[in-house]
Amino acid sequence: MKINKSKKNLVIKDFPEPTDSTRAAIFPDRCCLCGNTIEHKAIVCNNCKTNAKIIRGARCLSCGRTKKDCECKGRANFYDGVVAPFVYDGVVRQGIANWKFHGAERSVNFFADMMIAAIKEAYSDIKFDVITFIPQTQKETEARSYNQGEQLAMTLGEKLNIPVHSLLVKLYETERQRNLSFISRSGNIFGVFDCCNKAMTEGKNILLIDDVKTSGKSLNECAKMLHIYAAASVYCAVIAVV
Ligand SMILES: [Zn+2]
Ligand SMILES: [Zn+2]
Repeated sequence: MKINKSKKNLVIKDFPEPTDSTRAAIFPDRCCLCGNTIEHKAIVCNNCKTNAKIIRGARCLSCGRTKKDCECKGRANFYDGVVAPFVYDGVVRQGIANWKFHGAERSVNFFADMMIAAIKEAYSDIKFDVITFIPQTQKETEARSYNQGEQLAMTLGEKLNIPVHSLLVKLYETERQRNLSFISRSGNIFGVFDCCNKAMTEGKNILLIDDVKTSGKSLNECAKMLHIYAAASVYCAVIAVV
């Protein structure tokens, strides 16, 4: 049978590349917080822009809230400071849950950009040597499919051009902090972390990343270990504080 050579490559070769508008019609952009469809190339919908509780103005570095909303009264911690762009509430809470469920790259980029703005404002005079994150046990990572704190840390490292290292290990399985009363949380994680990279800890200014700060006990316990291993400073950054 004679093949018509002129028609042979027609099918694939002649398909046009999708334009931005056709791409947007097939995969509409979604708000990085509520997940509703939004205008093409927008990041957050107008409703979320209005309702997200952004932390602005003078901050309390002990709890991460504004000085006006601080209830910790400058409590001493093992970490040298904690900063966040958002209060963990409403659409931000929903956005973090959506990100954890869908793992969308758009969301992690958005959260990282917001964190960078807060980091640059609050820690403007600190030159960080290394970024690290709260570790999980193997079992926890398998159950949640990945470590969100690590994903955030990697994204921040790329954007800030700071190396990311796993400096800590979690030695034991623990009950989820959020399932426990405030009073039980310190005991639940006391002594469960250890430093696994002394060379990248000693004498270093460390940026410690987590997704949400609830009681702050995990950040504090990790900062304690990093200071035991002679870190010069441990400053924390999270997406949101309770
Ligand atoms: Zn929205
Ligand atoms: Zn405070």
